[in-house]
Amino acid sequence: MLTTNPFDDDKLREECGVFGIYPHPQSAALVALGLHALQHRGQEAAGVVTFDGKHFHSHHAMGHVGDNFSSQSGVVSRLVGHAGIGHVRYSTTGDSIMRNVQPLFADFEFGGFALAHNGNLTNALLLRRQLVRRGCLFQSTTDTEVIVHLMATARSGSVVDRMVEALRQVEGAYAIVAMANDMVVGVRDPLGVRPLVIGRIGDSHVLASETCALDIIGADFLRDVEPGEMVVIDSSGLHSMRPFQPQPRRFCIFEYIYFARPDSVVEGSSVYEARKRIGMQLARESEVEADLVIPVPDSGVPAAIGYSVQSGIPFELGIIRNHYVGRTFIEPTDQIRNLGVKLKHNANRHMIEGKRIILVDDSIVRGTTSVKIVEMMRRAGAREVHMRISSPPTTHSCFYGVDTPRKDKLLAHRLSIAEMNGFIGSDSLAFVSMDGLYKALGEPGRDPARPQYCDACFSGDYPIALADRDSLQEPGVTFRVEAKAS
Ligand code: AMP
Repeated sequence: MLTTNPFDDDKLREECGVFGIYPHPQSAALVALGLHALQHRGQEAAGVVTFDGKHFHSHHAMGHVGDNFSSQSGVVSRLVGHAGIGHVRYSTTGDSIMRNVQPLFADFEFGGFALAHNGNLTNALLLRRQLVRRGCLFQSTTDTEVIVHLMATARSGSVVDRMVEALRQVEGAYAIVAMANDMVVGVRDPLGVRPLVIGRIGDSHVLASETCALDIIGADFLRDVEPGEMVVIDSSGLHSMRPFQPQPRRFCIFEYIYFARPDSVVEGSSVYEARKRIGMQLARESEVEADLVIPVPDSGVPAAIGYSVQSGIPFELGIIRNHYVGRTFIEPTDQIRNLGVKLKHNANRHMIEGKRIILVDDSIVRGTTSVKIVEMMRRAGAREVHMRISSPPTTHSCFYGVDTPRKDKLLAHRLSIAEMNGFIGSDSLAFVSMDGLYKALGEPGRDPARPQYCDACFSGDYPIALADRDSLQEPGVTFRVEAKAS
């Protein structure tokens, strides 16, 4: 479905995971396994492209990796080749959706080229308009496709030169894994907003959004791709380049709070440990007398453990999660989302009855989850329900690749903390402070002149220009495409 203004609907934007390996005789199987470990980063579609020295092979499908790349399906054995890349993503609804499933693929003068992108380009609509005027015919509605057209219209010849020329023109957040004839390329935007790591298994190099995807194939973690770094993996090994102007790093703080898997190590820190420390900080800042600390599963668990350790209040599983239901967040309407919370969680009544409980969750976005969970705790007989959130209030939308709704749908944008407490029906509500969050991540606090992370969803301080959004505020400017994060 096309829309004239990508910022005035409530469509969910994508969040994605990327993976690549070179060289390996079973590249497709390893890419599929890697994507399986990255499934939490995107659950609506997956794609794999391999290269066998002569030909490229690909499979793209809606749905989970396990359902589409199973050994019974025969897909993996058809994807022959010693090089492979893959992508998992969330997506919008609409009938043109298969066109948007990555990796994107294009034939160039130099041969085939496949591209998988995690992040969101903030000037893609403007670039697209210029490219369309120059005669480019777009095949998809993703922001990522502008990179392919910028490469096609670039002056210089080699794959790497064309990629650099294209990426110098785009703004936004990107962790990219690409593949051309006999090479796999990884690159991160100059601020390093989205993660990308390098691993090694035998003689093969691996690129992945998170280290949990290295673990699943038994690869060793080597290092992060640095912000603004491009790594080229070919038959002579791994080569590093720095084609962009260096900039202060601004890694996405929400990866630590919610998005990355807790068993991953991102930017040198264990996500699990970080979440636990945030929970400890939260307890220091918002003490309350209670009998139990209860996590909202699963993302609230490490912070709740930290809260319990710091406060000395026992940790218990007061909510049991049904693991066979997807994230409620991906449901398109409030009505279905509400139902989703019930499908997903059930109160452990025995544990809760008559108790004063502290509920710990990682974030409040629209407030749907909190309302339902608090109500569920009360129905199960909780005497007091104190809500504690291991992030500051989410007051702003993300334009760099994390799925957040339009600003006016964010509860914390509309309401004060006291009003939010009333809305969700808790006895008290507290969020970790911004400085506290930075402290938990090993910083002295948030340096307002030069914040060490991208925390735009909590601060409104957007470190990368939002050219598309700003141009849409100019009178008379409309676009007949969707803006997509990935
Ligand atoms: P909400 O119910 O809209 O307030 O969303 C908050 C819940 O969704 C929390 O329990 C989070 O764990 C989870 N959540 C937060 N951010 C995201 C996201 N970008 N994608 C999916 N789930 C999220």
